[in-house]
Amino acid sequence: MKFERHALSIGCVLGIPIRLHISLLIALPFIMSYFPSKSFGLRLVGAVGLFMSVALHELGHSVVAQAKGIRIIEIMLYPFGGAAMMSSIPKRPLDEVLVAVAGPAVSFLLAVTGIGLYIFYKIPLTLELGIINLGLFIFNLIPAFPMDGGRVLRALLSMKIGRLKATKMAANIGSFFSLLFVVGGLFYLHDFMLAFIGGYIYFVGQAEYRMVRQAYQTDPISTLHRDIFVEVSPPPYVEKKSFRMRIKNRMKRFFR
Ligand code: ZN
Repeated sequence: MKFERHALSIGCVLGIPIRLHISLLIALPFIMSYFPSKSFGLRLVGAVGLFMSVALHELGHSVVAQAKGIRIIEIMLYPFGGAAMMSSIPKRPLDEVLVAVAGPAVSFLLAVTGIGLYIFYKIPLTLELGIINLGLFIFNLIPAFPMDGGRVLRALLSMKIGRLKATKMAANIGSFFSLLFVVGGLFYLHDFMLAFIGGYIYFVGQAEYRMVRQAYQTDPISTLHRDIFVEVSPPPYVEKKSFRMRIKNRMKRFFR
């Protein structure tokens, strides 16, 4: 373990350094409060499980990106999500779709595994982790660029209207969703994390649009983008605790 550039390096998987940003360490008690258990240990296990799930989701993106010749600089875990920093954007729209869906695919498999283990062995923790991964799967497929669903949307639009226009359109749709997350988070769900995620994806989305625009201005024919880009994946602790409890209790009853 090494602490540098405001983050703690916790290890290397497939040659990719995994790092915890200092803000995640500071926000840990807050994240633990999302887990309803009375026991400190179980809340800690829940928070660690959540961020391990996010890291595995990011590794899903990273493995497919590596197979497409992209170098992964690092995976950084922030309180508002994981971010895989890649040396370039996949050039072909189909590759971008594959990289984007790889993360949710991992979350889906983890969700099925967690819920499956609960059905057969009745381990409550695996149900909790299964639901977290189900949330990661669903939430990240929302077409809010630069989240995974938004990247798929951008890639599909690119095939029709070109990358620049597609990025503009996807970023605008992404801004609409960020506004929904901010307003919904602050005024309806009283979920500050959701509002924060809204702000975060707005800034990352706009920054990526500016980057693509600049690349086109300097070299309009080239579709090569050498700039670093970040694959972001916010975690699903965006629902009200009561809502999550309801799902969990319903599932428990269903699988009894
Ligand atoms: Zn993702």
